[in-house]
Amino acid sequence: MMQDYNILDETKRILRENGVWLKRKLGQSFLINMEYISKQLQAGRLNKNDIVLEIGAGIGNLTVKLAPLVKKVYAIELDHTLAEILRKRITAYNNIEVFECDALKCDFPQFNKIIANIPYNIASPLTFKILSYKFELGVLMYQLEFAKRLIAKPGYGNYSRLSVNAALKADVEIIDIVPRTAFYPKPKVDSAIVKIIPKNIKLKSDIEEFTKIVNGIFSYKNKKIYSAIKHYMNKLNIDKETLKQILLNIPYSDVRVKDMSIDMIDDLTVYIINKMRGV
Ligand code: SAH
Repeated sequence: MMQDYNILDETKRILRENGVWLKRKLGQSFLINMEYISKQLQAGRLNKNDIVLEIGAGIGNLTVKLAPLVKKVYAIELDHTLAEILRKRITAYNNIEVFECDALKCDFPQFNKIIANIPYNIASPLTFKILSYKFELGVLMYQLEFAKRLIAKPGYGNYSRLSVNAALKADVEIIDIVPRTAFYPKPKVDSAIVKIIPKNIKLKSDIEEFTKIVNGIFSYKNKKIYSAIKHYMNKLNIDKETLKQILLNIPYSDVRVKDMSIDMIDDLTVYIINKMRGV
């Protein structure tokens, strides 16, 4: 194996020399294990045409490995101190551009791949923001428990709103579990590398209505559809007669919410939309 400088020592040195105090609330914990950096790069199937977005670049441990393999890296980092360190560290590269901004607030430049160890504290909104862009492939590091919920299939314990909303927009898969020891400072939880391939599912219903139903019924994950819809609609103050009509022939009435696939929720949504319109 090629002799690499020790990333942990390098990370500690950079932090020390710059007098950095890490901010826990920004999820600042750096990947310091070359094995997992390599796995992320490999999973990205990178080539010289790729324009890669990296979110939460930190001091650039992944950034400097990405840059030689691709055409362009856009590295987003919110923390001013870290963004400054990053800018200094990458002067030898001419294909990295640093954006100092909040990834939830700034617009992303055009990219075809996203490779990142994201800030875990904003994993959910950030993932949905990313999925609203058009791109080919993502390789993202998540907290393990979050990753399990993200990729969960119907019928499994971790299946949730998050799983449905993600599956609607992409194929998601855990490709590696990463122990907490691969990071500095060492976090309290393990992580996972998730591969994301966006796709376009055509719903029979309407995406907004579908999402409302998903968000509504997953509050009652272990209930059967009949009672989940009843609870959800009661909260919405739907009039009693309409609700009665809806419940009358409701599809999948005996299926538990946690076992509902996208197709089934789609059917359910079509049925409810039609009933609400009085069809
Ligand atoms: N990718 C780096 C750092 C991961 S730590 C590595 O693997 O070593 C997560 C990074 O995200 C931190 O540097 C933190 O400052 C940054 N961050 C946190 N919230 C952010 C936000 N809203 N927008 C952009 N960056 C953010």
